[in-house]
Amino acid sequence: MGLVRYSRWASRLKTLNSQYKPFLSATSSFSSGTTAGNENPGRPGPPPIQVALTESSGRGVFATRKIENGELIHTAKPVLSHPSLSTVHRVCYFCLRKLRNTDTSQPQRVSFCSDDCKKQAKGFYDVEMRADWSVYDDYCRSHGLKYPLLVKRLACMVMSGAAPANLLDILQPASLFAEMISEMEAGFGLLRSTFRNSNITDEQMSFLTKQWYIGILARIRINAFRIELVGGLYDDLLSSAAASIDAEAAVGNAVYILPSFYNHDCDPNAHIIWIENTDARLKALRDVDAGEELRICYIDASMDHDARQSILSQGFGFQCSCLRCLSGD
Ligand SMILES: [Zn+2]
Ligand SMILES: [Zn+2]
Repeated sequence: MGLVRYSRWASRLKTLNSQYKPFLSATSSFSSGTTAGNENPGRPGPPPIQVALTESSGRGVFATRKIENGELIHTAKPVLSHPSLSTVHRVCYFCLRKLRNTDTSQPQRVSFCSDDCKKQAKGFYDVEMRADWSVYDDYCRSHGLKYPLLVKRLACMVMSGAAPANLLDILQPASLFAEMISEMEAGFGLLRSTFRNSNITDEQMSFLTKQWYIGILARIRINAFRIELVGGLYDDLLSSAAASIDAEAAVGNAVYILPSFYNHDCDPNAHIIWIENTDARLKALRDVDAGEELRICYIDASMDHDARQSILSQGFGFQCSCLRCLSGD
């Protein structure tokens, strides 16, 4: 364990900056064909990975062949996504791509970047349009909550038949404290009343129980990725004096299946990036041997040991015992 290995961190800190993401060990078998693609023309075929049990962290993702530093391991599309309330009128309501021309004459309307996104959004948007979301959105805004927006979208998808109610069951839920659950109950009540005030029948929302709502939030809490576009809103940031860098850096949040199977490491050999929309790219950060576990960093890797341990424990519910943590760094 020499300095060479450690000196690599400095150059990586920029790209690793605050890509919050999920701890994961899921429970059923996974077919990589559904969420992963291979965009590397030089290496045709399925992605060079398999999901298997680790010794101590539940499931993990392993290389099935040697993967080179910088290689695109696979891509993934989200099963669920939602823009931040602060960017909702500046990005595509489906894929979170930055919009070229925002329609300022109708500030309440959301937009889509393409006909394709508009079409795919029908899976939730037709149902969503039938209700008045001002109270629910205000609840999220005033409490600084972003995940109830994902639950709202999933509920709309389920009602329109675009997704099963158990879509996220494969993901590991966070363990919740009583305090968190009572806060979630408020959101649940507002979601139900919003639907009830529109023309949604009790039968259509029979899946929407308190248990369902809390179960979805418990999974989103440790599995959602905060989406920051590499080529995204940076220009806007510089020109918008009022914008808070922190709030504006993320265009939204999204939930993926395969990327959620990656375990955490404070000195990761892989990372996930977003170029222009929610299409995620998993890339190798160094050469990886066949059989080696691929891990990403769920948090800002530039934090010191105690800060990392505290965030991982509070946010994700585990103590990190990666080589970097064991070394005390
Ligand atoms: Zn789009
Ligand atoms: Zn660690």
